[in-house]
This record gives sequence, C-alpha cells and structure tokens, in this order.
Amino acid sequence: MSNRYLDARNLNCRPDRLEEACGVFGIYASGEEDLARLTYFGLYALQHRGQESAGMAVSDGSNVLVFKDMGLVPQVFNEKILSTLTGKIAIGHTRYSTTGSTHWENAQPIHKTYKHGTLALAHNGNLVNSAELRKMLTQNGNKFRSTSDSEIIAGLIANFSDENIEGGIKKTVKLLKGAYAVTVVTEEKLIGFRDSYGIRPLSLGKLGDNYVISSETCGFDIIGAEFLRDIEPGEMVIIDEKGLHSEKIVSKTQPSLCIFEFVYFARPDSYLYGKPLHNARNEMGRMLAKEHPADADLVIPVPDSGTSAAVGYAQSSGVPFGEGMIKNRYVGRTFIQPAQSIRQMGVKMKLNPLKEIIKGKRLVVVDDSIVRGTTSKQIVNMLKEAGAKEVHMRISSPPVGYPCFYGIDTAEKEELIASRMGVDETRDFINADSLGYLSLEGLVASSGKAQGMFCTACFDGVYPIKLSKTCKLNKEMLETPVNSK
Ligand code: AMP
Repeated sequence: MSNRYLDARNLNCRPDRLEEACGVFGIYASGEEDLARLTYFGLYALQHRGQESAGMAVSDGSNVLVFKDMGLVPQVFNEKILSTLTGKIAIGHTRYSTTGSTHWENAQPIHKTYKHGTLALAHNGNLVNSAELRKMLTQNGNKFRSTSDSEIIAGLIANFSDENIEGGIKKTVKLLKGAYAVTVVTEEKLIGFRDSYGIRPLSLGKLGDNYVISSETCGFDIIGAEFLRDIEPGEMVIIDEKGLHSEKIVSKTQPSLCIFEFVYFARPDSYLYGKPLHNARNEMGRMLAKEHPADADLVIPVPDSGTSAAVGYAQSSGVPFGEGMIKNRYVGRTFIQPAQSIRQMGVKMKLNPLKEIIKGKRLVVVDDSIVRGTTSKQIVNMLKEAGAKEVHMRISSPPVGYPCFYGIDTAEKEELIASRMGVDETRDFINADSLGYLSLEGLVASSGKAQGMFCTACFDGVYPIKLSKTCKLNKEMLETPVNSK
C-alpha cells in the first residue's frame, strides 16, 4: 500500500463527494468453515448499496487479514481468495461510486494497528465534521492513506483504545458528528455501532448460535440467518466468545432514519423499522394514486425502482398494471455514472420499451424519485418515440430539493431539478403530459411511523444534525424553498 493518493481534497462536509453510501456486514461464527463465503454472500445481497469497491476483513483469533479491491463483489473475490480468508469473525463492505475518488485506498474495510493489535472497520454514512477531526489527528501525528472519513473513525478508535476497543469507540463517538453505521473486527471481537440519529440502517441477525450484522435484512436472508432486531441509534453491540452484549454509547438519541432508504436506497425485500419495504412502497403508490389520479389505460413501472409503488398505484386506481419497459439487469444503477453525458446514455443502455404494449396507450409511469430529471426526461421521450399516446409521470416521493450530507448521493443543490424548477416547469422539461409527486405527509404515512422518526432533509431542508462550520454549504441556497406541487 502506498499513500500516493493522499491528494489535495476538498476538506468540506462532503469530503468524499458522498461516496459513503455503502453496505456493511459482519459475522461472528466460531467454528464456521465457510465464514468468508457467508460474508461474500452477505456482500452480494448488499451490492446495490455500493458498486465501486468491495472488501472483507477476517480474524482467525490471532490475525486480522484484509482483502479489498475496486469492482463488484464477484469481481473482487473468487474461490481462491475466499479459501485463503479463514477465521471466526469477519466484516465486509461494498462502497458507493461517484466521481473523483475511485481510489483503492478508499476501499474498505480500513485497517489500523493499535495498542492491543489490529482493528478493521467498515462504515456507511458521512461525517459532517471530518475536516476538524482530520486536522486534529494529523496534528497528533496520524498519517492518512485514504481520503475517506471512515479512516478518521478508525484512526480515532485506534488512538483512544489504550484500555480496550469498546472504550476507544465510546470516546470516538463523542467527537463524531454525522451519520455512521459501522462494523469493526478485532482479533477477538465483532462490534457494530450506530450514530445517535440512526440515519443509516444497521440490523442484527442470528445464524444458528452465531450473530450477524448487516446494513439491510436482505443480507440475512441470503445466508439463511434470522432477523432479530435493528441496532438502535446510539447503541453498540459487541459479540465475542462470551456472546452478545449491548451498550448505549451516547446519552441522547433522536431516531432519524433516512427516509430515502424507504423511498429508493434499500432493497424492497428488506425491513426497516420493522416494515417490509415492498409493502411501504406499495402503500406509497396507493397514496400517490389518491393524490394524483390520471385518466390512463395502463400503469407501468420504471423497473426496478418504481415497481412496488406502481403495483400499489394500479391496485388503488383500478388502472391495469403492465410491464412497459424491459430492464437490462447487467447494467448498474444509472446514477453511478458520474458524467451527465454518460448518465444520459445510461437510461437507454438500461431500459428498452415494449412497443407493442405501449403503442397508442395513455400511460401512467411510476418511478421512485426525480433527482436531476435526466432519467425521467429520457424515459418520457423514449416512451413517446415508441408510440405512447400520453405519458403521466407519477413519483412516489416529494421533489428532492436539498442535498444530502449524511451519505446518499442526491447531487449538489444546483443540480437538483426541484431547486430550480416548480412542478409545471419540471413537467415541461421532462416532456410529460402530467407530473405528480407524492406529498411528504403521504410518504411518511406509508412508512407507518411518525415524521419525527425520519431525516427528511432532502425533501424539506430540515437537517437533524447541525452541519459543521467548515461545511462549504451555501446557506442561501439551503434557504431557497423547494418548488413543490
Ligand atoms: P435523475 O435522473 O437524476 O432524476 O435520477 C432519478 C433516478 O435515479 C430515479 O430513477 C431513481 O430511481 C434513481 N435514484 C435516485 N436517487 C438515487 C441515488 N442516490 N443513487 C442512485 N440512483 C438514484
């Protein structure tokens, strides 16, 4: 490893241009021969949370070995590699991709040596005070290999763990501001902890007598583990040879799960706040049909992100549901292509209309969100070129008007179409015959929880975690109201 990538970076509150929307996994499985394979499967299930790099760290009780590389999970690992990763505890990570920072050094798990051995850490989320913390650590003589805020967390834990790792984590979280769902492995322990707002998800499961931690419950299903419960905001779970222990590591908590996980990011077969996301999204579609009915012949989803909501829209409206576009499942999420020109190509690479089905029809097209507007515009034009008579775009979330600082790539404020245009203008921009967004109230109601249980900042600009002074955040831009409805 070299630190030649330690580049002059923008040390603001979005230090990594929000690359930290990731998937984390962990398993303590003493006596399990296939530990690395189980971790591999867990990461496979979390692949949608990050496609830039993948990695795992395995402890055999004496050593912690890390293997990570750029690429998708099956590109990074093969039989030979997995067979060398033997042990009793493992963590894994899939990392999100954006422009500018696709470096090996930013791949995770990140490892650090400390007084009692080695720790490896996998992080999902984004700190908003990383510049201050990095400065503090650098002044203390810490050297950084990566440009990621996750290395800051690992560095702090290593610095503070003179007594033991749990103590180090407790001291570290006192300094962290932002979103973090973290798994840590040492020679003897698997640890999972979550920030006091619980912005990014983290769940606990059981596989026989063994414990598993995963960003999403779909990571349990794939290995036959049972979902036990969510790890609470501000909770740390420690799993070692004595079993599972849990501790509250922050005094004040305020559950604020990212509502965009409900809308888009998490898989529909995962559970959040105990609710199956497919059901929540189906409910969003039903509400959307009530809020924005349309005279139409067919409801079609934008696959796969709009499918659950489109089913709900059709059920509630009585307009038949059908497939109108076929998705090439071997093309990744459109969003991950950084340049606008490539992103525009991305939609066509990914979706192909079924001409015979849509020709002459008045379509309701359901997608989960409009962020920049690129996807919807492309889709509407594609459907019209393929013979659709009318296209009524229905979105199962409100307009995204504010950037996310806690780990989801929702683009910069000025790139968000809702920050520049109202609904009518957006409708004209995407060339739809009508456009309807689900209200924030409708979205929250579909989750079955109160609005106070969520971070809804991308929709209403209310940020639960105060942004640090060094954030290069244009306050004026934030105060501009979103043009909704
Ligand atoms: P846009 O073209 O920028 O309006 O992007 C909206 C499309 O991207 C929708 O089809 C969403 O399903 C998808 N999307 C929304 N947010 C994200 C995200 N954070 N990462 C990847 N894809 C996203």
